[in-house]
Amino acid sequence: MAVTRIVVAEDDASIRELLVHHLEREGFRCEQAADGPAALRLARTGADVLVLDVGLPVVDGFDIVRALRREGCELPILVLTARSEEIDRVVGLEIGADDYVVKPFSPREVVARIKAIGRRAGLRSQSAPVVLTYDRLEIDQAAREARIDGVELGLKPREFALLLELAVNPGVALSRATLLERVWGFDFDGDERTVDVHVRRVRLRLDERARLASLLQTVHGFGYKFARA
Ligand code: CA
Repeated sequence: MAVTRIVVAEDDASIRELLVHHLEREGFRCEQAADGPAALRLARTGADVLVLDVGLPVVDGFDIVRALRREGCELPILVLTARSEEIDRVVGLEIGADDYVVKPFSPREVVARIKAIGRRAGLRSQSAPVVLTYDRLEIDQAAREARIDGVELGLKPREFALLLELAVNPGVALSRATLLERVWGFDFDGDERTVDVHVRRVRLRLDERARLASLLQTVHGFGYKFARA
């Protein structure tokens, strides 16, 4: 398995940024989570490896691993751990992580562990790619493409990311600011109308083939949500 997309879940910004810096230098694409819910959300949307701090706000690392494994998710997980009682629990394989490193660690060691995890994961049978299906629409997370009746819609990467972000949270209204942050990233300094423009383009694509534009619902004065099936 070629590891390309790594989710780095760590609430200490200096550790997180150090890791991301080293991983990106190695050619990995990184996404960052500073709390448990963000880590879960990113881990569920097609990551190759999750680098997971145990002591995360809101939902801790142990609960995240348990939740993912309960869902049948086989995503390789490298746990970052600090206290000795945490180490005991990780080493006891109580939680189903793949490997761990103890803080303070060298970024180089983390990179080496991730590469090893990728090699081992490649030996396991390929797990089925996650495809979300709504009516005649398929959202293929592994291929990063959306199809209607099997025909690719030709969404641009950002349009696909926006559709996916809404579709993995059906019935949940997401504000324009939230969508900007999750789809465009924290450092995007554009306008919230960017979201509207992209939603309009995705709706156009959905309508062209199957009149499915109503899957993306406007929440007036707030943002958008994906229609519940
Ligand atoms: Ca922490």
